[in-house]
Amino acid sequence: MKQAVFIERDGVLNAIRVEKQQQVTPLTLEDFELREDAAPLLKKLKAAGLILIATTNQPGLSRGYLSRRELDRMHERLRKAFPLDEILVCPHDETDRCPCRKPKPGYSPRRLSNGI
Ligand SMILES: [Zn+2]
Repeated sequence: MKQAVFIERDGVLNAIRVEKQQQVTPLTLEDFELREDAAPLLKKLKAAGLILIATTNQPGLSRGYLSRRELDRMHERLRKAFPLDEILVCPHDETDRCPCRKPKPGYSPRRLSNGI
């Protein structure tokens, strides 16, 4: 059986701003600043045989202030910087009561591409 590590995206793999004691998620590629210091640790985990999965709640997708295209561009950059196997996104608003919003265990609507 393969083992996986689930890694929070915001604040771990990319920097976040805090405004009025609220975490502000980057909405554009320009605002998306990688935390390169996470790379050596991720490489060690990968070398130990673990599957690396980044997870993130992005309710801005269903609320309309975050575009899927922009998110895809950010995640393309993430995949280049870190040895991630998958990035799971919950695109729902908390009022949607979906099963994929962290910390719930459901998978995102997009199936895992590598069949895990
Ligand atoms: Zn969801």
